[in-house]
Amino acid sequence: MIADCEVATDLVRCTVMMLLYNGPHHGYSIMAELQKRLGRAVSPAIIYPFLASLSDAGYVTSRQEREGRRLKILYTLTPEGRRFSERVFRRLSSIVSTAIYPNSSVCAHCGCRLVEPGHVEKVGRREMIFCCVHCATAYKQGGQ
Ligand SMILES: [Zn+2]
Repeated sequence: MIADCEVATDLVRCTVMMLLYNGPHHGYSIMAELQKRLGRAVSPAIIYPFLASLSDAGYVTSRQEREGRRLKILYTLTPEGRRFSERVFRRLSSIVSTAIYPNSSVCAHCGCRLVEPGHVEKVGRREMIFCCVHCATAYKQGGQ
């Protein structure tokens, strides 16, 4: 099981989701893009177990391709994986907007910025702010 909030707070894994959201990738092309975008090398010991857990969750499919004598694995997001990515991006965007606009609140589900107090609802033991009751319901159904 992978939670979207867990991925949204980890920039490396979040960037992997963005890359896969833009199209299929090989493991090595993910590593190369991470190096380019984050300005540092990311260990394969982080990337491959993450890809494996995405695959276990049904969020990516992998296909082996032969290139010369080498076998390469191509990772593609499934429709569930695309929805999962969108949840991750909304979480990330709400984290970023809260940092930029500390005095405004952000809907915990869709990430839209609230000028009005919004809809407050208890989720577990936390009080969370949503733009509307529909977002609160969707958030609770989305789990975690
Ligand atoms: Zn909302």
